[in-house]
Amino acid sequence: MKQDRRQFLKRLVVAAAALTAPSLIMHAASHKSTRSSKMKLSWTPYDLQLRHTFTISGFSRKTTPVVLTRLEYDGLTGYGEASLPPYLGETQASVIEFLKKVDLSGFSDPTQLEEILMYVDSIAPANTAAKASVDIALHDLAGKIMGNPWHKIQGLDKTDVPDTTFTIGIDRDEVVQEKTREAIGRFNILKIKVGGPDDKRMIEAIRSVTDLPLAVDANQGWKNRDEALEMIFWLKEKGVVMVEQPMPKYDLDNIARLTAESPLPVFADESVQRLGDVERLKGVFSGINIKLMKCTGMHEAWKMRQLAKSLGMKVMMGCMTETSCAISAAAQLYAGMDFADLDGALLIANDCFMGATLENGKIIASDKPGIGVEPSKELTFGR
Ligand code: MG
Repeated sequence: MKQDRRQFLKRLVVAAAALTAPSLIMHAASHKSTRSSKMKLSWTPYDLQLRHTFTISGFSRKTTPVVLTRLEYDGLTGYGEASLPPYLGETQASVIEFLKKVDLSGFSDPTQLEEILMYVDSIAPANTAAKASVDIALHDLAGKIMGNPWHKIQGLDKTDVPDTTFTIGIDRDEVVQEKTREAIGRFNILKIKVGGPDDKRMIEAIRSVTDLPLAVDANQGWKNRDEALEMIFWLKEKGVVMVEQPMPKYDLDNIARLTAESPLPVFADESVQRLGDVERLKGVFSGINIKLMKCTGMHEAWKMRQLAKSLGMKVMMGCMTETSCAISAAAQLYAGMDFADLDGALLIANDCFMGATLENGKIIASDKPGIGVEPSKELTFGR
């Protein structure tokens, strides 16, 4: 009886397939004839206007150049971005020069991420932001082909994320206090840039207006290990919860000793770029700050996250000043991390994408497929 029923169902499925298959084939054929099945990469330079002049240990600026990328395939569009803070060495011209060399004609399937990105990485050394702009657009496109956002593809709970820090640069007390007041109620943790002429005074100025937890980023600004350690003990008393890049990036022996004695977790930022840097930093830092622009994008960021976790290291997701395009890409992959610094799009006045949003102090990824973004103004891409 059971077998008869199975036979009947089988025949039904075969009959249904026979009925529907030709129309499906026809549909696919017409779909192909009107749309290109080759990936087409284009780009446009764009200048981000910062809401406030931004000063970190050693640099001050009011704009950040970026290059936005677009990858078209079979009627779908993926978006990407290279953010280019001037001190990192890449420019809009160098990114465009790199993008002109990217020839994707040998790849017919955009979901072959590993193969395509290995090729992109092999075109030239360095150029990490330029590579990230291709990686992000490709992930956006591949996610759209798969019909899912990347947090779902990776099996992450997009709400299981740390609060994002809101960054306050080195500045006069009144400016620092004004920025702090702006952040109160929107953010649950602030990131203070230290390594300036008078860090203690600046922390006290912030403490006079808020008791929110603080992260500090010295951007390699502390040169002496004993002074750095004394400073970290003082900062802990002031409600600081973590320290980023306290000392020069190659001074790993001193940093390792500092981390061993530090009452706060110490994170690598300038000391860590790509996957190959992670293993040697075990025992030197408590954790690493992963940024898409440093590590060539989402593909390698995910590998760094997995490797660091397997080595027992903490992980945070960071950013440059970026539009909601690159921020939304990072937001897809940071669930389960220890810290986040994803305020980049909130620091600019001319964001040109909609995607991840700030909700109760956390950056929450969108549920749209890919990286979950849409341009919020008309952008003209070309080659
Ligand atoms: Mg940093």
